[in-house]
This record gives sequence, C-alpha cells and structure tokens, in this order.
Amino acid sequence: MSIALRLAALRPKLGQATLIAVSKTHPLESVREALNAGQRVFGENRVQEALKKFVPLRQDFDDIELHLIGPLQTNKAQTAVELFDVIQTLDRPALAEALAKASAKSGKRPRLYIEVNIGQEPQKAGVGPDETEAFLSLCRNTYALSVSGLMCIPPLGKEPRSYFEALKALANHLALSHISMGMSADFETAIACGATEVRLGTALFGHRSPRA
Ligand SMILES: *Cc1c(COP(=O)(O)O)cnc(C)c1O
Repeated sequence: MSIALRLAALRPKLGQATLIAVSKTHPLESVREALNAGQRVFGENRVQEALKKFVPLRQDFDDIELHLIGPLQTNKAQTAVELFDVIQTLDRPALAEALAKASAKSGKRPRLYIEVNIGQEPQKAGVGPDETEAFLSLCRNTYALSVSGLMCIPPLGKEPRSYFEALKALANHLALSHISMGMSADFETAIACGATEVRLGTALFGHRSPRA
C-alpha cells in the first residue's frame, strides 16, 4: 500500500490527536511521499539523521513541524534546539541546563516535553512518575524553560492502557496540555486514554530495516 493510502486510512482513527509521522531509518523519498500527501508533522530519533533529511526538505516545504523523540546528548543540544520544533525527550537536569544555554545562544525555544519512565523500568530513559513534578519545577524555576507536555513509552509486551491512563492523570495534575503517547501497535488505546499526539512509524511507512 502507498504511504498516501495508509495516511488516508489512518486519519479517521485519529480523532483530535495529531499524527507524528516517525520517519527514522526511512529514506528521504518516503518522507517526500508523506509530504505530498499532506503530512507535515514528523518525528526522528537521531539528530544527525534528522539534519541530513530535513534541512533539504525544508527548502521545499516551509511548514514542516519536526519532533525529536529519541535520547538527546548534551553535546548535541545546540543543534537540536536549532533543528527541532519540539523536543520530547527532556529527561534529566544536565539536559535541561544544556537546552537552556542553547536556547539563550540561538534565540530558539522549541516546545519541550518531559519523558516519563511510566513503567519505572530500570534500564529505560525518563523521569520517574513520582519525580516528574519536582523535575518540572527545576526546569521552570532554575532553567526558565517552558515545558508544555509529557511523553512516554510504556513497557514492552505489557497491556499499555494503565500506563497511558497514568500519564494522562499526571499531565492533568501538572496542567500540561500535550500528551505524546501511542505507537503503531497501541495508538487507538492511547487516543482513548487522552493522547493528544501519537507517534506512528510502521503503520505509515512500513517496517524498518535494522540499522547498520
Ligand atoms: C520508533 C519510535 C516510534 C514509532 O514506532 P512504530 O511502532 O513503528 O510506530 C514511536 N516513538 C518512539 C519514541 C520511537 O522511537
């Protein structure tokens, strides 16, 4: 099926939620196909790959909205602030500090979401649910960052609903309006639980080949 047809099939299932087309590992031509079908919001998980693809694409499409959905190293904060409209993976004080400095230097202030380790998995990135409120205060009060959302990736292989509900409740408690949750396998559940943005790769672009 073409990307245009997949998009058309997905749209009615989205309700009010924004579709973030996750184009990581997929070639420029696939992104172009999505753009030609009207898609404007994209997600990438690596800074270098996003630079390579989206700098040229922005010459042709000036209304692309680009989200960073993968881990960010502090030494790439400057590039990330200049490239992305939204950074969804703010997950530690050192990164908050680096983003604040990068914003001051470049004058760019991308929308920021805190990544929450909603399943409290030891190996996973993100701030623990119980620490999110304090981390939000630190971002705002110490670093003068404007954080407007939460993002999560629930534990693999578990029923995601209770995790989505927990992220939604946390976002409500903190009065954060952007809730990024749900991927190809579970986005309809995420939307039912209050996702305002879903991140879809496979459902739109097909399977990814493994990275070299
Ligand atoms: C790759 C990725 C997605 C998209 O995953 P699919 O299952 O292909 O839809 C969503 N969110 C994050 C953080 C990702 O890294």
